Amino acid sequence: MNAQPTPKPRVAVHKFSSCDGCQLAFLNLGEDLLALAERVDLVHFAEAGPLDPDTEVDVAFVEGSVSTPEDLERIRRIREHSRMLIAIGACATSGGIQGLRNGADAAQWLAQIYEHPEAIASLERSTPIASHVKVDFELWGCPVSGPQMLAVVNALLLGVAPRDNADKVCTE
Ligand code: SF4
Repeated sequence: MNAQPTPKPRVAVHKFSSCDGCQLAFLNLGEDLLALAERVDLVHFAEAGPLDPDTEVDVAFVEGSVSTPEDLERIRRIREHSRMLIAIGACATSGGIQGLRNGADAAQWLAQIYEHPEAIASLERSTPIASHVKVDFELWGCPVSGPQMLAVVNALLLGVAPRDNADKVCTE
């Protein structure tokens, strides 16, 4: 009797408020990314289009900060359906450039920029992912280092904890 092949780990890369630079760092891995795609099931890449946040995955990479009510609802659903959640880059780990507005009156800025500010759904503050859900690991940088992301995935595939595990706990 033939043994069933072991299912590949399912990996997703999600985008929140960000410039896409961290995803591009991952894409720029070139041949290394193709080799990785042989070993994991890349079920979602934000650059390729939207994914149902209720899709079950083993590892979710998350780029970007939480800046809108939709972001907040989506990150909670992603967390619920991801075995490991890894925040990548300065936006996801500290709020990023969007976080500069945290020291200002966001409502006043919206009124100055948009003709219909009431149409803009925005949270008062732009916050890191760990402010809302448990984050298993953080990779810092702007952008994050592609080889570093690869090293984390390889460590997880080998069943070992990546180095410098931040072991973040939700602070909300
Ligand atoms: Fe872009 Fe930097 Fe944010 Fe990555 S951390 S999404 S490169 S602004």
